[in-house]
Amino acid sequence: MLNKKDVAPPSLLNKLVSLTTIRDIELFEFSLLKTLAELLSINQISMYKLDQTNATCWLSTYSIDLIQDDSKRQLSESQEIYTSEITIPEEIKSAQLWMETTRKPYIHYQGDRYLVVYPILAANKIEEMLTFELPHPLTEGEMLIISSLLSITHNFRSLLDESQKDKLTGLLNRQTFEVNIKKISALTVGPDVGQDHDGNILNRRRPKVETEKFCLAIIDIDDFKSINDRFGHIMGDEVLLLLSYVMKQNFRARDLLFRFGGEEFVVIFRAPDKEEAYKALERFRNRIQEYHFPQIETVTISMGATLINELNYLASEIIGRADQALYHAKQNGKNQLHFYENLLENGYVFDKKETSTTDFF
Ligand code: GH3
Ligand code: MG
Ligand code: MG
Repeated sequence: MLNKKDVAPPSLLNKLVSLTTIRDIELFEFSLLKTLAELLSINQISMYKLDQTNATCWLSTYSIDLIQDDSKRQLSESQEIYTSEITIPEEIKSAQLWMETTRKPYIHYQGDRYLVVYPILAANKIEEMLTFELPHPLTEGEMLIISSLLSITHNFRSLLDESQKDKLTGLLNRQTFEVNIKKISALTVGPDVGQDHDGNILNRRRPKVETEKFCLAIIDIDDFKSINDRFGHIMGDEVLLLLSYVMKQNFRARDLLFRFGGEEFVVIFRAPDKEEAYKALERFRNRIQEYHFPQIETVTISMGATLINELNYLASEIIGRADQALYHAKQNGKNQLHFYENLLENGYVFDKKETSTTDFF
């Protein structure tokens, strides 16, 4: 007769198979945390995602609360995942420094607990740090599980990254836009939920910051056709590359940067209000204007921007509004930024939704 042990599935392999069927990077990361928590039997596990400036980081935490349910006399599980932007804690900074020099996990004994930090590398640079606490030192078996899972994660994520990125610039491609705008909409209009590999609903709880808004801007290079005509297609490509390089420097790690089409780019970023969004975009426009492009010298861009809010969150509507503002910028002399909301207020554009519902005949 078979006993329970014989029919138990090889859990690590099973988890791995289901983990690698996920195609959404963020969901994949959450599932990785959950998988590790289960394999190591720990209640809380976190991932620190470093910003390019190294001043702040994004913290994702997966935690399971074991709650005593009196009526059923059994433990029930409540799972929570949340993400927030924080300044890097001192302890994590020390861990980062240690890992940068040794390339080894950081293990620190504090009182009766061990703090464990594992580096996740991308292009030989620490991009993320996985942290959790244990009441005992890691066993060799556990270390092997973690390092194997992390190298598989690394390879798999590079593959996912490839398929979502534009080949020339390395920015997100247009195909990923729809998926990302849906996530943003969920953030602004309701709870963001996803499913993990076991089909469980995961609540990606995010601390609700009332003042936080998302801004979307379309960026279009001015007179790009004439750059191609005068300097050749290869120099044109070089401009696209350099522009995306300046773009990556201007915006933050969690901002979403897309190459939307030929010489058209889209950025979705967080800003406390329209004024701050305006500043960030104007800073970018100035940086491009002042950037020394080899041979060509000066390149300028026009931008149309809009805020994403709970009333207008359909991808086509958001893009439509930004596009109207971009059109205005082009008509008005190029090398400038316009916000749809300001144009609407001043009567330069009209709300297409309102006008289209009016039946004149
Ligand atoms: P405007 O200021 O009104 O935006 O004018 P423009 O010349 O920038 O815009 P237009 O849409 O007339 O031309 C865009 C040009 O971009 C035409 C196309 O050949 C070129 N283009 C599109 N994709 C690429 C690319 O990948 N590489 C290069 N070098 N050129 C491209
Ligand atoms: Mg153009
Ligand atoms: Mg264009």
